[in-house]
Amino acid sequence: MTEEQILQAIEAAMKARREFFSDDPAVSVAIFRMCAWYNVEVNYRKHGESPRKNGDKYVLTLPQYTPFENDHVRIAHELGHIVLGHGIEAMQSPVRTEISDEDRQANIFAADLLMPEKEFREKCRECGNDVEEVAFWFGVTPSAAGVRMAILGIEEMKR
Ligand SMILES: [Zn+2]
Repeated sequence: MTEEQILQAIEAAMKARREFFSDDPAVSVAIFRMCAWYNVEVNYRKHGESPRKNGDKYVLTLPQYTPFENDHVRIAHELGHIVLGHGIEAMQSPVRTEISDEDRQANIFAADLLMPEKEFREKCRECGNDVEEVAFWFGVTPSAAGVRMAILGIEEMKR
């Protein structure tokens, strides 16, 4: 992945952050707004399904019994594909050992959308790099927050 692709994903996330998070809504509310704006329908079934298109609409079917923090991360990733113009094929690509550039970009988008660097660093400082607390604050899974900390060179507090 090129430096340009990385910057493109970060800038797209920062723009979406300004458009959908500026009045400091609950994460679920911001995600809901983005889904409405980008014509994404979210359904829940016992098992999740591969994203598909129905006319102009994107249909995301998520597994029913996962924590909503997982859904935030997953939906933000898929929104990344849409915002970055990847198309439905990229969204449907199966998980392989070799992750595609599109998926990397979507991951960067999701991380910067849900855990913008400045706010993330501040919150980490405030709570002594407690990954559980940081994850709770940003409405994401501890594993997503942990990856974000690692990428930003922030050392997790030992429990
Ligand atoms: Zn993807």
